[in-house]
Amino acid sequence: MSAPPTHPLDQLITRPTLLLDPDRARRNIERMAARARRSGVRFRPHFKTHQSARIAEWFRDAGVEHCTVSSVEMAAYFAAHGWTDITIAFPVNLREIPRIESLPGGARLGLLVEDPATVHNLGARLTRPVDIWIKIDTGYGRTGIAWHDRDRLESVAHAVAGHERLTLQGVIAHAGHTYAADDPGAVAAIHRESVARLQHVRRDLMEAGVERVIVSIGDTPGCSIVDDLSDVDEIRPGNFAFYDLMQRRVGACGNEEIAVALASPVVAKHPARSELVIYGGAVHLSKDALRLPDGRACFGQIALLESRGWSAPIDGAYVTGVSQEHGIVAAPPPLFERIAVGDLLLVLPVHSCLTADAMQGYLTLDGERIPMMPKAAA
Ligand code: PLP
Repeated sequence: MSAPPTHPLDQLITRPTLLLDPDRARRNIERMAARARRSGVRFRPHFKTHQSARIAEWFRDAGVEHCTVSSVEMAAYFAAHGWTDITIAFPVNLREIPRIESLPGGARLGLLVEDPATVHNLGARLTRPVDIWIKIDTGYGRTGIAWHDRDRLESVAHAVAGHERLTLQGVIAHAGHTYAADDPGAVAAIHRESVARLQHVRRDLMEAGVERVIVSIGDTPGCSIVDDLSDVDEIRPGNFAFYDLMQRRVGACGNEEIAVALASPVVAKHPARSELVIYGGAVHLSKDALRLPDGRACFGQIALLESRGWSAPIDGAYVTGVSQEHGIVAAPPPLFERIAVGDLLLVLPVHSCLTADAMQGYLTLDGERIPMMPKAAA
């Protein structure tokens, strides 16, 4: 027996399609904007999660005027859509200086640096003014100056001061190790430690003669779990617009806040294994996975289309394997019986930023197709 009639979109979806619940996304955006306002901090959300000028308008509706991006291309795209204060929160790629130069002169542009040689290179070659942010590693261990490396910090600050077109704005960190925390208390502890380390860096810079140092943080777990963010000056979370299973795992969101789901046609049933095969694999979901308590990998959790969106995620129904286009769904018997080949399953993604990037566009529950910025050819 096939699933009962569900949503009007059901009949329209023929291939893996990223469904977006606009009400949930708008609520997520408004909630974070309100928290930033209450905390008295500037809200500079990361737009790499959605990469869409249309969705960026929802941020504008929530009073947002500043944004973060992760590439020069993305800066060009949002500048072309009227965003005039953009930080590229990725270490400067010196091979892209000509592209940086060609960004609209009217837009305020922030760049991240972490070594004096890069600063001198930028200072010597850029003909436009830019804001400079020093990237600090507060414990994540990805990139940035170690928070206690005062010598390197001061050498970068002095290098910036030597170039007329470069203006030091402050220090920036992404405490991405919050994603490995096991509960909200652990996220909050990492957040507090990270902020304290940035305050320490700020003091070091001020003692070295820098007059004003803005402190900017950004990770969705920390900014979602800690209500009062007033001990920094700026926040840059991005994922919170959609949330996902990874955020649910650390306690940053509930099921009701997850705003995207991959609609995936069922293409095969395997009764002996109680598994369904969906058209929805690694090229759609990404290979980011969580570990289930029994040790299996989880690439997403299953929900069903309903007249008002999608159901709560179904207990025990997970994507436990992906190859390029196939997804393997472990289906508890009631779900297995109910679903026929040709039906749709919805997959709540593990990491919505990667799923959105893979899918390159959205279909809203209202039936609107929302494109993403076009990807540049290699
Ligand atoms: N800022 C920087 C530098 C980042 O690298 C990221 C994400 O990787 C963010 C902000 C946004 O963090 P999140 O994805 O946790 O919202």
